[in-house]
Amino acid sequence: MSSKELDLRQMHDTEFPLPMEMQGNVAITSLSKIYNWSRRSSMWPMLFGLACCAIEMIGTASSRFDFSRFGMEVMRATPRQSDLMIVSGTVTKKMIVPIVRLYNQMPEPKYVMAMGACASGGGPFKEGYNVVSGIDKYLPVDVYVPGCPPTPQALLYGLIALQKKIDGQSLANLDDVPWYGVGPSEPTPIPILGPDIIDPRQMDLIRRQAELAAAGMPVGVRELPPVIKTVKAIPSKAAKAAVAEVIDEGEAQRREEIMRRRQAVLARKRARDAAKGA
Ligand code: SF4
Repeated sequence: MSSKELDLRQMHDTEFPLPMEMQGNVAITSLSKIYNWSRRSSMWPMLFGLACCAIEMIGTASSRFDFSRFGMEVMRATPRQSDLMIVSGTVTKKMIVPIVRLYNQMPEPKYVMAMGACASGGGPFKEGYNVVSGIDKYLPVDVYVPGCPPTPQALLYGLIALQKKIDGQSLANLDDVPWYGVGPSEPTPIPILGPDIIDPRQMDLIRRQAELAAAGMPVGVRELPPVIKTVKAIPSKAAKAAVAEVIDEGEAQRREEIMRRRQAVLARKRARDAAKGA
């Protein structure tokens, strides 16, 4: 790539200052910065959509918004060539199974974006019998894009936020880039679809509850906090009468004031009429 295609000023590391006249041709930078720059400038999203949000994602890819400006136009139809999963739409319990399987098939480093209210938390279908209340119950989400649906501009903003996140990662910090740790990473357990969805990570809890149910003990009973009874102070008749008296007194004073003003206005009017007649 020639220096005309690549703006070297993006690559400078401020820790190593360069004279201004050299900045167009020479860059002194860190490995992390080059690595992050190359990844953030060539994110390949996986080509799949789940519901209405996918229409906005398609709109973002088309000419009016054109996310190829961010190096993201190569939407791949296979997880093996993708490094970004945009979960665009309602995630049903039936679909979460292949979604997690596809995520496991993506090579690392990989990122997940929850696009829209449904993918972020269930959206208008939250706690529906067939809907997962947010993809983050199963996958590690890097960026959430709110909205129902989010506009293409919002999705672009989310993509830029993801690029900023990548920019901030360091190869020296394994918390930032866990995929360079020792040994192969563990795949995310694939949920099991049965009468309801089962997350294998909760197997111990599910087993315990099943044992309790088999023993005829209450399971999943929500414990309500104890009710604290409060005794209301009931005003006595004398107190009520005193309050009514105060109210009556105030009302009487107000009426008296109105009458006094009315009389004064009438008196002025009579005086004016008398002066005219004379
Ligand atoms: S967030 Fe709204 S627009 Fe997006 S999939 Fe859910 S219902 Fe459809």
